[in-house]
Amino acid sequence: MVDPPKSSRATQAENLLEVLRHSGVLNVDRPRQVYCNRDINLADIGLIGFDMDYTLALYHRDTIEQLSIEKTLERLVDQRGYPAEILDLDIPTNFAIRGLVLDTLRGNIFKLDSHRHVGKVYHGFEEVTGDGLYEYRVNSMRMTTSRYALIDTLFGLPEAELYAALVDYLETTKPGGDHDWQRLYKDIRYCIDLAHRDNSIKEDIIAHTDRYLTRNVDLALTLHKFRSAGKKLFVLTNSFAPFTDHILSYLLDGLLPEYPRWQNYFDITITGSAKPAFFTDRNPFVRVDTTGAVQGEEFAQFDRNAIYQGGNLIDFERICGYRGNQILFVGDHIYGDIVRSKKSSAWRTVMIVQEMEEELRQAAALRQENSRMESRELELQRVNEEIAFDQGLAYKVDALLEENDHDADGHDFDIDQLRDARDEIRKERDRLRRRRREILDEILMLEKTFEAQFNPYWGLLFKQGNKNSVFGEQVDAYACLYTSRVENFVNYSPLHYFRAPRQPMPHERY
Ligand code: IMP
Ligand code: MG
Repeated sequence: MVDPPKSSRATQAENLLEVLRHSGVLNVDRPRQVYCNRDINLADIGLIGFDMDYTLALYHRDTIEQLSIEKTLERLVDQRGYPAEILDLDIPTNFAIRGLVLDTLRGNIFKLDSHRHVGKVYHGFEEVTGDGLYEYRVNSMRMTTSRYALIDTLFGLPEAELYAALVDYLETTKPGGDHDWQRLYKDIRYCIDLAHRDNSIKEDIIAHTDRYLTRNVDLALTLHKFRSAGKKLFVLTNSFAPFTDHILSYLLDGLLPEYPRWQNYFDITITGSAKPAFFTDRNPFVRVDTTGAVQGEEFAQFDRNAIYQGGNLIDFERICGYRGNQILFVGDHIYGDIVRSKKSSAWRTVMIVQEMEEELRQAAALRQENSRMESRELELQRVNEEIAFDQGLAYKVDALLEENDHDADGHDFDIDQLRDARDEIRKERDRLRRRRREILDEILMLEKTFEAQFNPYWGLLFKQGNKNSVFGEQVDAYACLYTSRVENFVNYSPLHYFRAPRQPMPHERY
């Protein structure tokens, strides 16, 4: 592989950032920090890989979701015979978050916590409470059957939005009808998949790229910074060559004079990689050109000016000469990029969670509400302990009084005094129970107002109630590092040692 060209302007900018950071002038804002679950010393990493869509290319959620929704609705009408009036439905693009589960039997959508307990349920855009919710709560969910569909990528959000909107539409147009919610889900899945595969989504992104993406010099500076520290870089995307070429050209070409073309930043470019199969199967690598036409299959080394398609983990490591934990992979898809690579290889992982930027800004603005919630939870704990103590005392007094009934003489205490004490304890216990109810109501109210400041339907991405959400739990379990965007690394040295905070178990806390 050829060494990267030196960029004087980029190097100056990088040095300046470094000086500012070390002099404390540049404190990394929380929404832009890189968070660490498992220690990583970047000095040990030789090769850094990047997924493209929603990793290097952070699409604007609103516009790309509107596009997916529009293209899917068109196909539902043309290919699946849905009435043309669904094209006029007003479908909110702020409804879904990652980690939601579609119950395709009931037409419901729900959010789980890390113990697989259902936190919230919606039927259409209507929240399900009472018996409907209770039914889910009695069993913790086993989601192994095809009845449930997990929304685990940002490309999947429009799927949940369409599902809720069409459940609402069908309930309104045919109230109390015998609806086939599984069929509805299959139709939506088929049509959204088609809109991706027939390129109609991509054609619009190519024709109006500035509606969907923003160029940002920090991305170029981040890649340059890694290269200057001697790291090799690669792209590993499921998008095919023509789209990859267009998007990466748009994002990177000409930003730094020493890197005229996006390919100058990368040593290896793999398109159409079919992740997660890339990590588990043995598909061959082929060389393609920017139109996607196959150029050949036989090669002993990756050529940095070439574009590859397909491929697999085993041949990748053999050909490039880096293995396991020398490789850091940055992706946004919890399953295809992070869980699968972690389970099939020893690659270290960085998860891009672009939603964090907004959530952390919001959380900072709500710090007072948050500390009020914490103090109420502490009070609740204290009141529970007092109730348990009074309960114990009441049992003891009751036992003494009962003993006394059987043994009228021979006791050495005043019965009336004991009865008064028992009444006092009961009164106090009732007062504490009332107080507990008040605190619980207040916590519920605070939680509701707090969560409504985030996603109005589902609350926080990483949390469900006071537990981690399933999404939060997966990020915690599989991502070594996580951050809101790739360019956040510009604020850290390319040799930075990321250390995970010590996480005490409950018995280690004093
Ligand atoms: P990556 O994130 O760079 O690996 O690429 C994701 C690719 O998957 C993009 O080209 C998307 O258009 C494509 N994609 C996302 N969802 C679907 C789908 O449901 N069917 C087919 N392709 C999809
Ligand atoms: Mg991606």
